[in-house]
Amino acid sequence: MALPHRLVRHIHSTRTWILLGILAPLGMLVISGLMLLDLRRDAWGKAEQTSRNLLQVIERDIARNVEMFDLSLRAVVDNLREPGIEALSPTMRQLVLFDRAGTARDMGVMLVIDAHGNIVEDLGAIPPRKGNYVDREYFQVHRERADLGLFVGKAIVSRLTGEPMLPFSRRISKPDGSFGGVVLGSLKLTYFSHLFDQIGLGPEGAINLYLRDGTRIMRYPYEAADIGVNIAGSSTFERFVGARSGSFVGTSVRDGVERHYTFTQVGDLPLVLNVALSTRDVEAEWRVKALGISATVLILCGFTIGLALLFGRELSRRAAVEAELALLSRTDALTGLPNRRRFDEVFERAWKSARRTGKPLSLLIVDADHFKRYNDRYGHAFGDMVLKGLAHGLAGSVHRPNDLVSRVGGEEFALLLPDTDEAGALRVAEEVHTRIGELAVGAAGIAHEAVTVSIGLADASGCDVEAVDLYRRADDALYVAKARGRNRTECAPGTSNDRKGILRVIPNRNSATM
Ligand code: GH3
Ligand code: MG
Ligand code: MG
Repeated sequence: MALPHRLVRHIHSTRTWILLGILAPLGMLVISGLMLLDLRRDAWGKAEQTSRNLLQVIERDIARNVEMFDLSLRAVVDNLREPGIEALSPTMRQLVLFDRAGTARDMGVMLVIDAHGNIVEDLGAIPPRKGNYVDREYFQVHRERADLGLFVGKAIVSRLTGEPMLPFSRRISKPDGSFGGVVLGSLKLTYFSHLFDQIGLGPEGAINLYLRDGTRIMRYPYEAADIGVNIAGSSTFERFVGARSGSFVGTSVRDGVERHYTFTQVGDLPLVLNVALSTRDVEAEWRVKALGISATVLILCGFTIGLALLFGRELSRRAAVEAELALLSRTDALTGLPNRRRFDEVFERAWKSARRTGKPLSLLIVDADHFKRYNDRYGHAFGDMVLKGLAHGLAGSVHRPNDLVSRVGGEEFALLLPDTDEAGALRVAEEVHTRIGELAVGAAGIAHEAVTVSIGLADASGCDVEAVDLYRRADDALYVAKARGRNRTECAPGTSNDRKGILRVIPNRNSATM
């Protein structure tokens, strides 16, 4: 199917190419931008998924270990109630009391403390090591409250081993319900560091374990100064305790680093665990990729736009040269008038248009009389000057924008007068004779009225089959004008005014003045 004319014109337009050359790279830029955003979303999705998985694994590990720990504490409390336990030897008593305790991983100490705070049973030594814990928080809270169950205290440094530990304790109640002491078990903080250390979170990533009161129990990467710090009341901590689990982006109160936090409560314990990835770390890999891709795409786009502009400039230049050549190829170099080629094109179109619309069309063929003599007498150069004068005179004789004056041969010119009937054409012919009569070439001594022309006139009368028929009739009329003495206009037979024969219009002047 043929492409619509307008589309073809657009495809050939330089502007269209430049526009395409600019729009295509811009489109590439937009698509690359969208792709980068997508990659960034992927990076975040991956980081969030990793955080969630990590958090789940760590939370389960801690919850399971604490549960086992608690089971041991409960066992001690239960076993203490067994009748006859007091009568057992210290070794047997220790075996019975701390029955299941040895299985707990990373356990620090396990002690039974009496109502006065003194160690009465010790998993680690027989006889028990000496120590009084009346000043410890866990001792005091159990003494005050009977319903606490498992109490998780702040991290402390063990008085027996000198190691940092997390204390877990349960109250021992006497048969009458009064305070009978505390069973204490402690979990070494190294348990958490061993657990967290296996995990790679990027340079600014962190894992934190808090008590619900805001006290930090452990942090990875470990720094002694972080342990025991209370961040209760900070916006991040508010969010940790605001829900059982969740995630958000916030700024750390510790170091001001923006991080993505995924947090959860550990089992049913008063512990909050979070995995915090720095947003910078999450995007680090993506950023390197994005920089590489952006730079490449920008360079390519710049290059393409540059090429498009250069190409556009070249196309414009070529179009201008082509237009210039097209004009030159249709212009007569000597007189500057349209040449035979141009005349043929316009004539054909005008003739068809006249046929279609029924409007008149007249043609004058103007030929200089005895022109050969000018050349012979004054030389070719002067002949050329006369030709230019003739061209000027002819061009001045027509007044409508669609009239065409062209040089169709050596000293032969054609005047194509669309929308002009024979009467109008005769008036133009008359003006041609008048203007040519005024032509003088002083340098050659050619005076007024020395140059004359003969004109053959024909108008499209309907008897022409083709444009060339009209031309031939005008040419025949010119021949008659020559034959009848020159310096005159003859109309071709069959013109609209005179269908009977050739009409002499301009009285014969003395044409051969030379
Ligand atoms: P006629 O009245 O019968 O037309 O006589 P003529 O001498 O004009 O006719 P002819 O066709 O025999 O001669 C035309 C002359 O026009 C021939 C040539 O010397 C001259 N001529 C044609 N083209 C040019 C041109 O470009 N420059 C010059 N100087 N002379 C030209
Ligand atoms: Mg001539
Ligand atoms: Mg001639």
